[in-house]
Amino acid sequence: MGKYVFGVDLGGTTVKMGLFDTDGNVQDKWEIPTRKQDAGKLILPDIAEAIKNKMAEKNIEASDVTGVGIGVPGPVDGAGMIYKAPNLGWGVFSIKDTLSELLGGMIVEAGNDANVAALGEMWRGGGKGYSSLVMVTLGTGVGGGIIINGKILTGSTGATGEIGHIHIVDGEPETCGCGKHGCLEMYASATGIARLANRRLAKDDAPTVLRNGDISAKSVFDAVKNGDKVAIEIAEQFGDYLAKGLASVAAAVNPEAFVIGGGVSKAGPVLFDYIVKYYREYVFHGSADAKFTLAELGNDAGIYGAAKLVLS
Ligand SMILES: [Zn+2]
Repeated sequence: MGKYVFGVDLGGTTVKMGLFDTDGNVQDKWEIPTRKQDAGKLILPDIAEAIKNKMAEKNIEASDVTGVGIGVPGPVDGAGMIYKAPNLGWGVFSIKDTLSELLGGMIVEAGNDANVAALGEMWRGGGKGYSSLVMVTLGTGVGGGIIINGKILTGSTGATGEIGHIHIVDGEPETCGCGKHGCLEMYASATGIARLANRRLAKDDAPTVLRNGDISAKSVFDAVKNGDKVAIEIAEQFGDYLAKGLASVAAAVNPEAFVIGGGVSKAGPVLFDYIVKYYREYVFHGSADAKFTLAELGNDAGIYGAAKLVLS
């Protein structure tokens, strides 16, 4: 086993790359643009070249490298096969084999970006010390990554962890990004919290600082911290809905912990005041003791997790 490993986090506009030692200490970190033209066929060659250039720059031989892990924004199965990533122009093919060939036969492992970020948080972030956890990313949408006994749960077509699309509310007139109605991310993402806030404000004239400025997840939780009653009502509803979704997830996969990340998690531990009590109310008793923690690696979770893919 070589003493280095590369972790690659492929995004829609940039590719984040990291060089790690096998203990997970980052040695170098850099980015290249994601060139999506021509059905994304430049993307993997660009990544391979960036890795080779870094090896040349640092005098690293192929035998010093244990492998390259990559997280991609699309469904990836346990064998490193991607099932279409329209965002990148990609169809169905083996990322693992293609990138390995471009790197002269180096070991490559591939995973879905949300699952890979969960693995990163387990290795070096908010999930340290746990081997079965669910990472919940509360951003523009709600994403999820599931690790059971140290391994990513991939499912038959790489579509596990789509917890943002658990059905929560019947009769929702608006449409989710997925085309359905009443999905968790319509209420628990940053945009979802703003939706809850706008609906609450429209209900009556109750005084709240939220009437004075932009409505966002941040403004809601800032107001919560200042004791604003209406903002607290909104946070209660957010916590109730999110907890319903997480209790469903727990009933299926029985995690030791939920690691909460994404932009909304910047609100900090106050989030747990609104999530955990509802979670305990709804969850099957066997999963009642699951811990809640905050993600710690931010945008670097993907490169850490990708590196860990090779070492798991
Ligand atoms: Zn949906």
